[in-house]
Parts: sequence; C-alpha cells; structure tokens
Amino acid sequence: MVPRADRRAALDGQERPIRAGGGIGLESAPMSATIMIVEDEPAVARGVQVALQQEGYDPRIVGTGEEALAQFAEIAPDLILLDVRLPGIDGFEVCRRLRRETRAPVLFLTARADEVDKVVGLEIGADDYLVKPFSVRELVSRVKAQLRRAYGELADTQTGRTLRRGELVIDLERRRVSRAGERISLTTTEFDLLRHMASRPGRVFTRAQLLELARDYEALEADERTINVHVSHIREKIEPDPAQPRYIRTVRGVGYAFSED
Ligand code: CA
Repeated sequence: MVPRADRRAALDGQERPIRAGGGIGLESAPMSATIMIVEDEPAVARGVQVALQQEGYDPRIVGTGEEALAQFAEIAPDLILLDVRLPGIDGFEVCRRLRRETRAPVLFLTARADEVDKVVGLEIGADDYLVKPFSVRELVSRVKAQLRRAYGELADTQTGRTLRRGELVIDLERRRVSRAGERISLTTTEFDLLRHMASRPGRVFTRAQLLELARDYEALEADERTINVHVSHIREKIEPDPAQPRYIRTVRGVGYAFSED
C-alpha cells in the first residue's frame, strides 16, 4: 500500500488537476465524480467507461486488483466499480483492503450467481452489485443512486468529493477545509453550514433555513441570530479578510449566499 502520509498528500486534492466537465470557470468549478473501474476484460471496461463519460463522470480503468490498490491514492475515486474475477488478487480481497482506506461506495460486477451470494453474504463492505451482462442504463442508474446515497445533494455529475472556490478547498468526504493549502479547523455546525451554502453557489439561504440545519447539532434553544454568530466564526476562519467577505456574502434583509465566482 501507499504509505499513509503520501496517500494523505495525494488525497488532499491540492495536486489533482481540474478536470473537464467542471462547468463554467474551471478554476473554481466543482469537479465531476471520479469512478475507478477495476476490470480485466478490455471490452467491458471500455463500454462502462464510455457510458460513464457520457454522463459527465470521470472514469478511470485499471486492469488488476494490484493496480487498483497501487493507484487508488492517485485516482482518489468517489466510487469504485469492482469486477469479482480478476487475475491475481480477486475483487473480494481488493474490496476488503480498500475498505481500510475509503468509504467511497463499492459496486461489484459479478458474472455468476454464486458470486452474488458471496457479495451479499460476506461482510466485505460492498454497497451494491450488478450481474453481467448488465445494461448501460442499469449501470448508470446504480452509480447515480450510490453517489446520491454517499454524498447527498452533491451527487450530481458536476460535483465530486471536493468543492473548490479560488484557494478554498472543501473536502466533503473527510470533512476538511483548507485555504491556500493551510488546514482550517471548523466545528461540526460550521462545516455543515459552509458545505450547505457552498454546494449551491449563488443561492440565497435565509437565516431560518440555515438554523434548521444548525439545530440538528445543537441542543440549546437557538434563534436566528445564532446563524449570524456561526457565519461570523466561519468568516473569521476562511475569509482572507473577514470584513470584506469573498466567500460568504450577506444578502441584506434575507440571509447568506456562497460566492458564485
Ligand atoms: Ca474478470
């Protein structure tokens, strides 16, 4: 396996290229979900790749379990499509090992009923499976469902596990925020408020809407002014100049919105 420190560096997203499909303004647009296809049959792998590309995803093919483990950190997939029967270590073992590294959904590709039994029966952390031959439509719908389940409202094709706006990077999976490479520490409530706003740039959220979100995490009776306090704390942490907010804008008389550019 890749040493932990190296893997972390690779996963931090600082070095990851901005991919096509990110929409307007490549620098600031969220990236499309990356899908690692672990499949030794080139025709199947290619067919799956084309189908996922057409949906706006960023599919990467690896041909063996060993390669999947070796390239996992670099690819940093949001979802893994994993063939059961692979040369060398099989899909089950790959899944078992990947589960130590990631919570990204794993969707097994199986060829036989007895493999299905094993996928379903074993506690190896598979999220779903498809039996070959499967239709492209079925594949795409399962992938979408798993991404939605894992990443919530952020799971459309234009979003991935990392949101970026200028120097600000929000790692959704690991709940980490950094600006210009500097790690920023946010409370649970602050992170969720930021994520909520950042996932819909330009949309205005009222204090009441944001309060609903914050309430889930706070036992105390909160009023809408609580949101002002949270936003002020978030700004102190993420804004280069909190007095002139660049990321979270105040919409007078209404609430707040995350910057669109
Ligand atoms: Ca195979």
